[in-house]
Amino acid sequence: MEWKRENFQVEGYEQVTYAEHLPSGMRSIIAVHNTNRGPACGGLRLLPYASQAEALEDVLRLSKGMSYKSALAGIGFGGGKSVLIADPARKTPAMLHAFGEFVNTFNGRYIAAKDMNINTLDLAEVFKKTKHVLGAEGQPGSGGDPSPLTAVGVYRGMEAAAEVALGQRSLKGVRVAIQGLGHVGYDLAERLHKAGAELWVTDIDSKSVERAKQKLGAHPVGLDEIYDVDCEIYSPCARGATLNSNTISRLKCRAVVGCANNQLATDQDGFRLVEKGILYAPDFVVNSGGIINVFCEYEGYDPQRAMRLAEGIFDTTREILRRAVQNGKPAFIVAEGLAQERIKNPQLP
Ligand code: NAD
Repeated sequence: MEWKRENFQVEGYEQVTYAEHLPSGMRSIIAVHNTNRGPACGGLRLLPYASQAEALEDVLRLSKGMSYKSALAGIGFGGGKSVLIADPARKTPAMLHAFGEFVNTFNGRYIAAKDMNINTLDLAEVFKKTKHVLGAEGQPGSGGDPSPLTAVGVYRGMEAAAEVALGQRSLKGVRVAIQGLGHVGYDLAERLHKAGAELWVTDIDSKSVERAKQKLGAHPVGLDEIYDVDCEIYSPCARGATLNSNTISRLKCRAVVGCANNQLATDQDGFRLVEKGILYAPDFVVNSGGIINVFCEYEGYDPQRAMRLAEGIFDTTREILRRAVQNGKPAFIVAEGLAQERIKNPQLP
């Protein structure tokens, strides 16, 4: 017997399956949260999870998040995600081929894409066994690096937050503190500089910081000092959970808008921000440029359509932030409510 499989019955999820391919050592879970709006698309994440339970918890949380993100982006994708339980240093083509075969058992209801420790070449291996994968190296119709589109969306989300929190859409003269000048963060910094914003920046890579200083007139600050910057907008663009009980008390901004995934360490931190009078534009609302890019690849890449969809993040963010302020609720709760409404009524945009 080459394969072991187990289905988990999880309330609110359409299908959650664990598979193990004994010859290659591939161990994976695919979770399809919801397909009301279209096939469940979400990245493949490879991590050395300590247990199957830990992998299950991650894939459930992430697949639900993808349903919300895609619904709010107004695209025809449902939400899904997959995890490979493996040491990143011991990933093999055979494992990726077995994963492709596992994806095929979903008959197109799950579409894999890139996530942590998986690159476009890995996806090319997966593509050898299944056509239900997007973003593989050499795959026809690629939309290329999604980061610029993600930066467009975050920039529009920032304009929406400025309108609601500061009473002006323009970011001219607005002080923004950016944590992380990577693919998205640096592009965002360039857009902000062009718009006349003043920037404070930090990154563990001192070269990016120096570049931002030279080219964009940004003020460099230490890695931990970014939370203390006196500014209007804090923009987490590096890693998750930077909004937590230690950092929120230090923030001096009026709004938080950034591309990093899972910025709130806990839901409680969303309430902490409201108490402090800081408007938080939820990450899954403003950073959907990446999944928009993937969706446009799926439908036949049209860069103008991709841009239009990313620009639409302005209206969605403003609507959510306005409702949040009116009701005195954290915006992530309003956003989840709106996403659930769209998932239940897939004819909504
Ligand atoms: P990246 O790896 O290119 O950039 C991250 C940057 O953060 C790097 O320059 C890194 O040196 C820096 N960094 C890491 N730890 C730091 C720390 N403690 N303090 C300061 N800087 C630190 O990644 P990216 O593609 O720009 O994505 C950034 C974040 O946005 C990630 O959380 C990613 O999951 C999320 N995201 C990205 C996209 C996309 O299209 N690229 C889409 C959605 C979400």
